[in-house]
Order: sequence, then structure tokens, then C-alpha cells
Amino acid sequence: MTDNEKLGLQRRIGCLGVIVTLAVGGVLVATRCEKNPASPPPVETIPTFAETQTEPASTAITEETVQTSASPTEAQTTAAPETERNAEIPPETARPVETLPPTEAQTQAETTAQTAAETAAQTVAAAENSGEWALQLVNSTHPLPEHFDTELIRLRNGVNVDSRIYPDLQEMFDDMRAQGMYPFVREGFRTREYQQEVMDTRISEYIAQGYGEEEARSLAADYVAKPGTSEHELGLAIDINAEDGTDSWTVYSWLAAHAYEYGFILRYPEGKEDITGISYEPWHYRYVGKEAAAEIYEQGVTLEEYLGE
Ligand SMILES: [Zn+2]
Repeated sequence: MTDNEKLGLQRRIGCLGVIVTLAVGGVLVATRCEKNPASPPPVETIPTFAETQTEPASTAITEETVQTSASPTEAQTTAAPETERNAEIPPETARPVETLPPTEAQTQAETTAQTAAETAAQTVAAAENSGEWALQLVNSTHPLPEHFDTELIRLRNGVNVDSRIYPDLQEMFDDMRAQGMYPFVREGFRTREYQQEVMDTRISEYIAQGYGEEEARSLAADYVAKPGTSEHELGLAIDINAEDGTDSWTVYSWLAAHAYEYGFILRYPEGKEDITGISYEPWHYRYVGKEAAAEIYEQGVTLEEYLGE
């Protein structure tokens, strides 16, 4: 092999490395969100945002939110009054309460060549800066990507969501409460394992109703997304329900008309089932950012249509 041939081969290997890195960072995967039961689920066993309602004013809730973000240790003792001083911590130090354990893909990335890891990190950072993270499509034909960047924040009722959607979520809930509605996030981020649990539980329920195992699995698959294909695994999807004392449809109607103002879209609208593959879910909202949400709302399209998928 001549020197020129060697040089050419080295360049080809180098290019291949970059392509593989970009591909790993960019691949999308398919998802189906499981369908909730048609009637709003029971709330009595779930500690919720109701805890915050006894506090004097929505502004106080917001301040505590800032404190929660600012200090992981203080955040875990949410009700501690002495946390007030932490409001002075500058925003740059803000951190989520909990971070997602690294996925297998992330772990692998750490063990690959340093240059590849750096390139991947730059790709993720670039995507974050441009807001692309909020437009990650996950459905039955677009499973979760092997690598995606998620930092979780734990709500007071124990539900986790991506920390980047939290400020807009808090603002939306504050505004709803100011109008006499009391919503709460019933479901947020799910691990793959929890998604499997949801699936297994549904299968068991069908078996208990007398279905054979094969039929039970088939029926469950109609209602529950296969692990690895649920939008909830992104941390950007939330199921919003009404607290006791608030009518569910009052909440759903308000959300349908206003959630886009806060960056959330009704992800599975009525009449779009053939596009989304999911039945109408008035409680399931997906964060896409305010700009995209406004466009999606005004055009009356689904995320699939908006992204041209
Ligand atoms: Zn959902």
C-alpha cells in the first residue's frame, strides 16, 4: 500500500467515525403511548399538587420551585421554611432534583474514544441550543433514540418530568389554580422498566377478566405502548388530571384551549387517530416549546404532520 493509499484509508476511517457518531446522536425511534382508561383514574391514592394548594399564594409556589431547582438537597425537603434564603442562589447554579441514570447507550458512549464522545456531546449541545430536543418525535414508527439527553426534576407527588419543561408547566398550573382549577400531573417520565410494568399490569387485568394469555397480550398492546416506544420515556409527555373537586372536563377543555400558550400540545387529538396511531387522549400533553406549540395549535395539525413524518 502506498502512502497515498494509506492516507486515503485513514481519512475514510475518520469520516466513518464521524458518520457513526452523528447517526447514534440523531436516530429516532418509534413509540406508542399507552392509552389511559376512558374515565379519569382515581386520584385518592396519589399525593399530588393539592399539597401546594394550601400554601398562601401561587407566587410562593413559584419561589419554592426556584429553590427546588437551585439545590438538590434542599429540594428533597420541599416544605422546609428555611429554604427561603436559597432563592438568592443565582440561576446558573440551578440543578434538577434528580438526574436520569445514564442509559446503556450513554454508558457505552463514555467508554468509546474520547473524540467520539466529545463529538456526540457537541451534537447534543447543539440540539439543545436550537430547541430540537423538544421536537423529538416518538411514536410506533419512531422509537426512542438510543441516546437522548434528559435531566429529571421530581414533582411533589413523586412524578418525574424533564427539568426543561418544568418552568412552563409550573406557570400553566399556577394560572389554572388562579382560575379555580386544580390539575395535577398523574403520569410523567417513565423508565423502560416502569413502562414494562404498566404493560404487564394491563395483561394481568385482561387475564383476570377471563381472556387467554395470548389474547390478553394482544389487547394490552392496543392500549399500552411497548417499552422503548412510549413518549413518556422521553420525560416530555405528561398526563394531566383534575383533583377532587375539579371537573375533569373543565381541566381538559381549558388545556385544549390554552396549553399551547405554555408550550404544550394535545398530542392525540380526536379525529387524528389514523395519523397518531393513538386514540383521543384529552389528558395527554406533550411539551414542544411555545413557538412550535403555537404553530401546531393554529394549524390544527399533529406533531407527525408538523414534522413532516
Ligand atoms: Zn400519556
